[in-house]
Amino acid sequence: MSDEKNILVMVAHPDDETLWCGGLLLKNSQWQKTIFSFTRESDKDRNPKFYRACEYFGANGVMSDIDDGAEQKPVSYYEYQMAAEKKLEKKDYDLIITHNPSGEYTRHLRHEEVSLSVLLMVGKGILNTKEMWFFNFSDTFKKEFPRARQDSDLIIELDDEIYNRKKKIICEIYGFSESSWEAQTTPKKEGFRIMKEFFRRIK
Ligand SMILES: [Zn+2]
Repeated sequence: MSDEKNILVMVAHPDDETLWCGGLLLKNSQWQKTIFSFTRESDKDRNPKFYRACEYFGANGVMSDIDDGAEQKPVSYYEYQMAAEKKLEKKDYDLIITHNPSGEYTRHLRHEEVSLSVLLMVGKGILNTKEMWFFNFSDTFKKEFPRARQDSDLIIELDDEIYNRKKKIICEIYGFSESSWEAQTTPKKEGFRIMKEFFRRIK
């Protein structure tokens, strides 16, 4: 994956882009990158951190403000579609990367909603892409920190240099302490499920 690509990363929260695919983004600095966070635009703490992280990745950052309250009330697909349509200038990409339909750990509803909403947007032609990748991690029902699943189509093992830079974004830009869940989670292996043939079939 060293060729030039125009990619879109769609995540629920600022920091998901770093946790689940930060190494991939750092390794492919030549890609044209847009990172879209569906939540926290009005969060005065997370908003500037997200844009600093995007700058570090050399990416265009976009945020929206879908409810992210602790009670996790379900959000409809149309809210996600409206947020994307309102905020994204482009709809055509070579690659879209997003959450897994079953999330990355036990359990955050927004991750699952984002995954299915992005898939639906691609199916409806709201967004176009040649390929779609889903993050592929599991915490084995909270028994461990989320780790790349063995059934991934692609596992990228980060070298120390890339891993340290990824960790730096989590600890220095986002400001999570070394003992935080985020810092301890920060995966050294990034796993992905790849949907390529699927798009050939539906087109
Ligand atoms: Zn998240």
